[in-house]
Amino acid sequence: MSRFLKVKCPDCENEQVVFDHASTHVKCLVCGRTLVEPTGGKARLKAEVLQALE
Ligand SMILES: [Zn+2]
Repeated sequence: MSRFLKVKCPDCENEQVVFDHASTHVKCLVCGRTLVEPTGGKARLKAEVLQALE
């Protein structure tokens, strides 16, 4: 099951929505820090998850 997650960047506290099965690196839109790393399945989250979105 895949979902969208609202995460918070640990560096600049920007909040953005990411896909938890991302196939590419997802970077913070503000500071460029990597928030999600692809693994081939469920992505590895490098940021704090605030909320799962339906
Ligand atoms: Zn950031």
